[in-house]
Amino acid sequence: MTARTTGTLIVGGGLIGAFTAWFLARAGRSVTVLEKGLVGAQSSGANFGNLRLQGRDPRQYPLSLRAQAIWEEIEALTGESCEYDRTGHLYLARDEEELASLHRYAEISRSAGLVVEDLDGPALAARFPYLDRGILAATFSKRDATANPRLATLMVMRAARAHGAGVLEHCEVVAAGHSGAAFEVETRSHGLFRSEHLVNAAGAWGGEIAAQFAEEVPLFSAGPPQFVTEPLPHVIAPSMQRVSGTVIFRQIPRGNVIVAGYPRTASDAQNLRTRVPPHKTLDGMAGLGLLAPMLRTAHVIRVWSGVEGYLPDMIPIIGPSGTQDGLFHGFGCCGHGFQIAPGVGAVLADLIATGRTDTPVEAFHIARYREGVQANEKFAREFDSR
Ligand SMILES: Cc1cc2nc3c(=O)[nH]c(=O)nc-3n(C[C@H](O)[C@H](O)[C@H](O)COP(=O)(O)OP(=O)(O)OC[C@H]3O[C@@H](n4cnc5c(N)ncnc54)[C@H](O)[C@@H]3O)c2cc1C
Repeated sequence: MTARTTGTLIVGGGLIGAFTAWFLARAGRSVTVLEKGLVGAQSSGANFGNLRLQGRDPRQYPLSLRAQAIWEEIEALTGESCEYDRTGHLYLARDEEELASLHRYAEISRSAGLVVEDLDGPALAARFPYLDRGILAATFSKRDATANPRLATLMVMRAARAHGAGVLEHCEVVAAGHSGAAFEVETRSHGLFRSEHLVNAAGAWGGEIAAQFAEEVPLFSAGPPQFVTEPLPHVIAPSMQRVSGTVIFRQIPRGNVIVAGYPRTASDAQNLRTRVPPHKTLDGMAGLGLLAPMLRTAHVIRVWSGVEGYLPDMIPIIGPSGTQDGLFHGFGCCGHGFQIAPGVGAVLADLIATGRTDTPVEAFHIARYREGVQANEKFAREFDSR
């Protein structure tokens, strides 16, 4: 069979693949996305929808801020709505340990230029009277936002297509290599593809693509439990969470309250599933009641999770391959890829088009795993195997 040829092949039609395709296509470059299932059907379509800036890894702020600036323009740029909403984000501390994290995160966020407001108990009660009086303090960042994950990836992929990107669904990449002259990528259903550049945007499956270029990484998959309540009167404006991450919630204008929380559960990545054990929904709703007592009796109408790729240092792999020229990675987003996706797409498009980027991403290079990586302190706390 004759190989199809394109400038850049992208493996994975999640949000990272979509943004990369859009930025490349907008710059007039030929690009084709190969997606084994449906565009946006994995983590990118199943996530909580937080575009949170507070409390990020300090090395990620330049990328995150670049991403947020794109989110802020996204609806004007695409001419469509993905329910982007500059809701702001409130971190809540209920005990001394959380108070210490609150101060630490605020200091890091401020040093990156983010405006973070401190609220003590009385200030919090005056501004958010529906929150429990047992909350000791909070920090508020008004630039943080939310968007609807069910709409966002499809919207960005439509924009990429409008600029000429090719997008093939139900097209699984089964082997990838380099002939010396070009990448050769074999698919289960659409034959062979050749390209000058290859982007690994395969999310929780990105380790399988990297391994084909002798870049082994300890990627594993898991998902946080998510649940949504019946529609209730709309009173909660910002997205909120306990700073420990045990309860995260936001209310959408239709009235439903979306809730999530750690610990995450291990996924069955082959069968595209992460179970939500019933006790996690019950624990999550009990935890929600401690923060917002009026939600104590709310009814949960649906639960779900997703298959997300994590690495022990809890930061993604972004940037050029350490073994193969022309290969670029953008995977393993460790639970925060919805927010950074536009930045990752922009950086990968910069690297492909010009060989460089002004956004520092060296910390995310895959080669860090050659030396061995220290696990992040969140790693032990935020996962279990149930
Ligand atoms: C339940 C949940 C809640 C989350 N909440 C948030 C949040 O509030 N805020 C936030 O910033 N992040 C959040 N995240 C993380 C975020 O959703 C992800 O980091 C992000 O969507 C990753 O995008 P991606 O494109 O890398 O991966 P995906 O969306 O998983 O896309 C990868 C794609 O690659 C395809 N693929 C894989 N292998 C192949 C192959 N061999 N051939 C062809 N295609 C292939 C897959 O089918 C998939 O569609 C959450 C994640 C989950 C699971």
